[in-house]
Amino acid sequence: MSIQPRGNVHLRCTYCGYREPYIRPLVKCPECGETIIEVEYDWQALKESNWQEMIRSRPFGLWRYRELLPLHDHNNIVTMGEGGTPLLHARRLGMMLGLKNLYIKDERQGPTGSFKDRQASVAVSVLKELGIEEMVVASTGNVAIAYSAYCARAGIKLWAFVTSLVPGDKMREMALYGTEVIKVTGTYDETKAVAARFAKSRDIYVDRGIKSIAAVESMTTLAYEIAEQLADEYGLANRGCDTPWCTPDWYVQGVSGGMGPIGVSKGFKELMNMGMVSKMPALACVQSAGCAPMVHAFEAGQSVATPVTVPQTLIATLATGDPGRAYQLLWDCIQDHGGYFQAATDEEAFAATRVLARMEGLSVEPATAVTFAGLFKMVRKGVFKPDDIVVVNCSGHTFPVEKQVLGEEWERRVDASKAGGQISLPEEGLLSALDHIDTAVRKIVVIEDTPDAARLIARILQARGGYQVHTATDGRAGIVMVRELKPDLVITDLMMPEVDGFQVIETIKADEELAGIPVIVLTAKELTPRERDRLSGQIATLLQKGSAMDEELLQSIVDSLD
Ligand SMILES: *Cc1c(COP(=O)(O)O)cnc(C)c1O
Ligand SMILES: [Zn+2]
Repeated sequence: MSIQPRGNVHLRCTYCGYREPYIRPLVKCPECGETIIEVEYDWQALKESNWQEMIRSRPFGLWRYRELLPLHDHNNIVTMGEGGTPLLHARRLGMMLGLKNLYIKDERQGPTGSFKDRQASVAVSVLKELGIEEMVVASTGNVAIAYSAYCARAGIKLWAFVTSLVPGDKMREMALYGTEVIKVTGTYDETKAVAARFAKSRDIYVDRGIKSIAAVESMTTLAYEIAEQLADEYGLANRGCDTPWCTPDWYVQGVSGGMGPIGVSKGFKELMNMGMVSKMPALACVQSAGCAPMVHAFEAGQSVATPVTVPQTLIATLATGDPGRAYQLLWDCIQDHGGYFQAATDEEAFAATRVLARMEGLSVEPATAVTFAGLFKMVRKGVFKPDDIVVVNCSGHTFPVEKQVLGEEWERRVDASKAGGQISLPEEGLLSALDHIDTAVRKIVVIEDTPDAARLIARILQARGGYQVHTATDGRAGIVMVRELKPDLVITDLMMPEVDGFQVIETIKADEELAGIPVIVLTAKELTPRERDRLSGQIATLLQKGSAMDEELLQSIVDSLD
């Protein structure tokens, strides 16, 4: 089949720089054998043709940026409306974390519920153009689901090799699209090897994941969308945005093979080449603690990762034990433009699932929850500056795997016939904990200089108990209010201008009449040993804002009022 080469598009080896015109994808570099090959577009020509104007009338979605995607003939596009996902300002979560410019790129809203829909759309379109009718993919779950849907649309037969860790519900979903699903008992790296052998024995095309140019190219569209959305959000006049589009200070993602952050950073590089943005984002990659080869290498200051042979995590999506060259590319990128690698445990991820659902209304899959758990940890370490624009990839929607998170007993069954009109619901742990304190109205003074934070705390308290909540917006007013009301409990922020939380606590404790009132401290920052010393013996509880904050807060209120 004949393919017309397009404009001035080239393939370039990421190792030795070998270049050739792009006609069909290269499996490896003919000069050095490197398997990660990049596409180079004619950025100068696009700039001169006023690309920004040209795309304006197209729908907001992945193919809006088609001049920067590796397809020759746009009649071959296989699409289901992927990409074009919202960039949500996470005000409540951001406020609790002390990040006022925290944004969530809601990739759950793709046709099959994860950002792998981008990869599937570009990869399957390219395969259709190449005339491929049958293919093999190895997957930790989401790639196989997305490819299943897009292959069905393109009439391509798909064989999906998945690890036995992949939840049954995900496998059923693949089979529904007509995919042949083969469950391999072994790690993801072993599964990839089995799939490759099968493909070779039958002479079927095998998807090469991060080594296929379509996969990395599809992820560049995340960068284009974020840059365009941030420009809309901040307007041209605002700081950091003297170019048509904007780069965030940070891009944060849960990482397995690293295709997302590699593609995103390539996307921003291209926008820089075209004069659309003026800088690169720092990359924050979060891995599951039971399979974190990149984090270990980063912490050891190494540019090559030692593979994890037996991943110890329930989170199948993030179980790439051997990231190979991808880590090296990310390492190089982080040396040049900044970044961080962070691990979070499965338990931390499951706790973050609740925080995200309750604070932002987003139900996410465990791989995405790991990202947020890592974000919370990086906030405590001071990785971000308070004004930084931080964009988090909310990479996938919950499947019925939330069973793992909520336990088996999350469903409430009520037998109306037996209850005789009086239906009693089983109690949640939290509510029964609150029953232990008597129901008399309790007076609480909240001292918090961020109005949103104060409102949120008041709302949490009022929603759950018979609390009378009074808020003061600075330390001085707080002290006056405590003297006047003699509350049962004081909740105070630490970092406030003029009279700070430390002074508030010292004043209360020095006053005989007030010294007995318990104090709970809420803080977004990690305290120094000296600051901890200053508080020790003076307060009932120290709570970090953010993770699982509302439950912890309620529990400590219950405890301190006992
Ligand atoms: C694939 C996937 C990841 C990891 O992406 P990489 O960039 O390939 O490491 C994270 N979250 C979800 C939901 C995924 O499907
Ligand atoms: Zn090469």
